[in-house]
Amino acid sequence: MTTVSAGTNWAGNYEYRAATVHSPRSVDELQEVVRRSPAIRALGSRHSFNDLADSPGDLVSLASMPAEVTVDEQLRTVRVNAGASYGAVAGELNEAGWALGNLASLPHISIAGAIATGTHGSGLRNGSLAEAVTAVELVDGTGELRRFARDADDDFPGTVVALGALGVLTAVELRVEPTYEVAQHVFDGLPLAAALESFPEVMGAAYSVSLFTSWREPLIDQVWVKRRTGEPEPGGDFFGATPAPVDRHPIASMPSLNATPQLGVPGPWLDRLPHFKLAFTPSAGEELQSEYLLPFEHGVEALQAVASIADRIAPLLQISEIRSVRGDDLWLSPAYGADAVALHFTWVQDQPAVTALLPELERALAPFSARPHWGKLFELGAGQISGLYPRIGDFTRIAGSLDPDLKFRNAYLDRVIFG
Ligand SMILES: Cc1cc2nc3c(=O)[nH]c(=O)nc-3n(C[C@H](O)[C@H](O)[C@H](O)COP(=O)(O)OP(=O)(O)OC[C@H]3O[C@@H](n4cnc5c(N)ncnc54)[C@H](O)[C@@H]3O)c2cc1C
Repeated sequence: MTTVSAGTNWAGNYEYRAATVHSPRSVDELQEVVRRSPAIRALGSRHSFNDLADSPGDLVSLASMPAEVTVDEQLRTVRVNAGASYGAVAGELNEAGWALGNLASLPHISIAGAIATGTHGSGLRNGSLAEAVTAVELVDGTGELRRFARDADDDFPGTVVALGALGVLTAVELRVEPTYEVAQHVFDGLPLAAALESFPEVMGAAYSVSLFTSWREPLIDQVWVKRRTGEPEPGGDFFGATPAPVDRHPIASMPSLNATPQLGVPGPWLDRLPHFKLAFTPSAGEELQSEYLLPFEHGVEALQAVASIADRIAPLLQISEIRSVRGDDLWLSPAYGADAVALHFTWVQDQPAVTALLPELERALAPFSARPHWGKLFELGAGQISGLYPRIGDFTRIAGSLDPDLKFRNAYLDRVIFG
């Protein structure tokens, strides 16, 4: 086992306070580390923008364990090492003729880290990445290896989007389907009024649809339409937007080199569903992110509320993305209980200014019961969060039983969940 100091998150805006990061090579070694440590948390690929992953004691990373991709063709599930990245797993799965239903905007994130925060892609029919989980295995606070499966445990819906508060996930099982192809079409210049007038039709125009706007004018700068081959091709005029003549980066002024291929050219699911190619780092990390998910039925009103403070948002914004996520039953999922629209903001890296703006944005979205993305920047505290999650009491109950010595607690969980 190797042990190193923790360093910073991917964006460099947070320096972990944990003294060390342990890298066990087996589940036995991991159990030993958890038993010995008075305070420990799992670290994924460090893509969260806040102090969620940090620990007042130690961190543990499973990144150096092999991905171990094992497909059960009959059950249509794949079992993988929880610390593996989606990119590593997707390649092996595809070679074996299988596919995941969806991916986030980048494939570099770890599976355990992504499902812990409810990370999602887009698509009215697509649940979050956590929604595809059928079972998890974790080392709890006593060092015991536990398994929770969707078809066997009543508490399973609390164990997937779990913020690292229940233990260290060692293995995850995910639903798979036969491999498929996706073609990506990008459209320029959708008037905001047209997007709002036909919002369900725009977001439901294909398997996965993302809208990008800089909020500098009442315009959706780009619409990314990811269609499974077999679905009808979107027409030349997309609700008033026109087909992009070349591949685009979501920020039109940036080179498209690291973006996945577009112009309607079909390709394997894993090379089209993420916006960014696996082989490239999506950006230098000079950004901050926030995101809020709210019931899809309030999407238009929520976008109007954001538009009403666009003059405050635009100066701090690199780009905003609007996506949809199918509702699920996972207790701490931001898409719990209803289909959701996700309003994402990639900010410039000016944390004091972003932190000062977030309460205003949160006030604008409060009437729609907007839930913040757990892994991004937000200012809501436990008082507000508890009212947004009807099963939060059940979650704290299982946290109490799996982590009796509070080994997996940190400042974030005290502030946002247990406070
Ligand atoms: C460039 C960029 C693009 C992004 N795109 C998207 C997107 O398209 N959609 C979206 O929804 N989000 C997106 N995010 C947010 C990102 O997906 C989440 O922050 C996600 O949680 C990051 O996963 P990670 O592996 O880096 O986890 P970390 O940030 O390292 O950790 C997050 C949480 O997971 C827990 N965790 C990690 N490993 C384990 C384990 N083995 N067992 C138990 N708990 C564990 C940690 O304790 C922590 O609580 C993006 C972030 C970046 C930087």
